Amino acid sequence: VDLPIHDAVLGHATDHGDTPALIDGADGTTLTYAQLDLFHRRLAAALTEAGLRKGDVLALHSPNTIAYPTAFYAATRAGATVTTAHPLATADELAKQLSDSGARWIITVSPLLDTARAAAERAGGIREILVCDSAPGHRSLVDLLATTAPEPVVAIDPVSDLAVLPYSSGTTGVPKGVMLTHRSIATNLAQLEPVMPAAPGDRVLAVLPFFHIYGLTALMNAPLRRGATVVVLPRFHLEAYLAAIEKHRITHLYVAPPIVLALAQHPAAERYDLSSVRHVLSAAAPLDARLAAACSARLGLPPVVQGYGMTELSPCSHLVPLDQAVAAPPGTVGKLIAGTEMRIVSLDDPARDVPVGEPGEVLIRGPQVMKGYLGRPDATAAMIDADGWLATGDIAHCDADGWLYVVDRVKELIKYKGFQVAPAELEALLITHPGIADAAVIGHYDADGNEVPHAFVVPHPTPTGLTEGEVMMYVAERVAPYKRVRHVTFIDGVPRAASGKILRRELRERL
Ligand code: ATP
Ligand code: MG
Repeated sequence: VDLPIHDAVLGHATDHGDTPALIDGADGTTLTYAQLDLFHRRLAAALTEAGLRKGDVLALHSPNTIAYPTAFYAATRAGATVTTAHPLATADELAKQLSDSGARWIITVSPLLDTARAAAERAGGIREILVCDSAPGHRSLVDLLATTAPEPVVAIDPVSDLAVLPYSSGTTGVPKGVMLTHRSIATNLAQLEPVMPAAPGDRVLAVLPFFHIYGLTALMNAPLRRGATVVVLPRFHLEAYLAAIEKHRITHLYVAPPIVLALAQHPAAERYDLSSVRHVLSAAAPLDARLAAACSARLGLPPVVQGYGMTELSPCSHLVPLDQAVAAPPGTVGKLIAGTEMRIVSLDDPARDVPVGEPGEVLIRGPQVMKGYLGRPDATAAMIDADGWLATGDIAHCDADGWLYVVDRVKELIKYKGFQVAPAELEALLITHPGIADAAVIGHYDADGNEVPHAFVVPHPTPTGLTEGEVMMYVAERVAPYKRVRHVTFIDGVPRAASGKILRRELRERL
């Protein structure tokens, strides 16, 4: 695994020569493994010719397209560190990432060019903006592929050189640049391989964004490393998603909880032939066991199993091995993957390990732990101790067989009169109500100074006349008194990040 990421993923690409590596789900355009291998090498040569040097930061600012992996592996082969940027970022948000990361290059797509230009102007220091498709005044990947320059020979040290600099989702604070080395990414792929196998002939549907470490790993690096085929969709639209599964005979679905919710509820879902699907894996945010079961039962899908991780873990520490999908207990996020250690420590006394079955904060140690946050030694030290243990900020318990169950984030626990209430538990319960399409819960201080659960509820589109009282009663009948929802606000939609996480900050601002 001590290989640069492009070699770890594409080292055997030519063995799969004519196999489609990527298919555009919209128009069917196909890129074979032979093309991916050739194109990324040529593009690496062209980037070097254009002046890119080892250690330069290149911002890849694009929705999912079949060109994305070519741009990504070309950049790393030329010695760059790729900072993956959210395609829907505003110019200000992108400018912050460009200046924080010290980016020198941008690869974008023509519809996002205005944003990229404005951001580059604000951030300064950008040498060139390249486009994947075409735009007047900018060189495109096609222009660059015409180069006759020789492939660069860049000495990469997988242990210390950064391959990717993704920004954490910013769910709990300002997004931070997460320094991931070639080794941490390549090692995590190797750790995942036995439990998340893929092979030529497998087809994954890439709708979760490549810029997020989950999509980058599960939908790009892992399948391309194994000769599988990635069908690319630029954004999530349930019917297009279902149609693509049917048309391309998709075998593996890597999803986030909002997609599971849509599959479980959307009237259109039953109209498509999903019989090709062999594995369904959800990660990135809490998924309730009842919702998972309802989704697979309704659509005749295999069990929806989970993985757990975070940007800082390159990204994975736990996964339900795909061959144990049926045997895994409901609600688990999986078992520790190879070469990784875990402790669960008491929230009151972090020096104490909790007994089996008791919840506490999860600590992880292993080769996939990030090098640190870029330019934030204090934040890094707060997260990783001197012995290499990374404090995840997540609360979980583990059973005697090693199955882990995530409860919620430490920061999001609501402390009601000394009792701890997990918003995720209440959210999972709320969406079991037939009149509720989606829900989010936050802690809010009432007039007496108590932090109490406040539910934001999206009623089903068909009018059911759902009242606040009914919502509170539904919860009160099913949970201990201290967990009761004390306030309800009806909203049109729950604000979520691209990875499916609830943006509780935005809800807090609404109150
Ligand atoms: P920030 O750190 O900037 O606030 P973030 O933590 O949301 O953002 P990510 O790295 O994208 O950024 O997400 C990691 C987090 O996602 C984990 O710490 C955990 O809270 C959550 N998570 C991941 N997988 C699961 C899962 N299967 N079940 C519950 N939560 C999960
Ligand atoms: Mg985090």
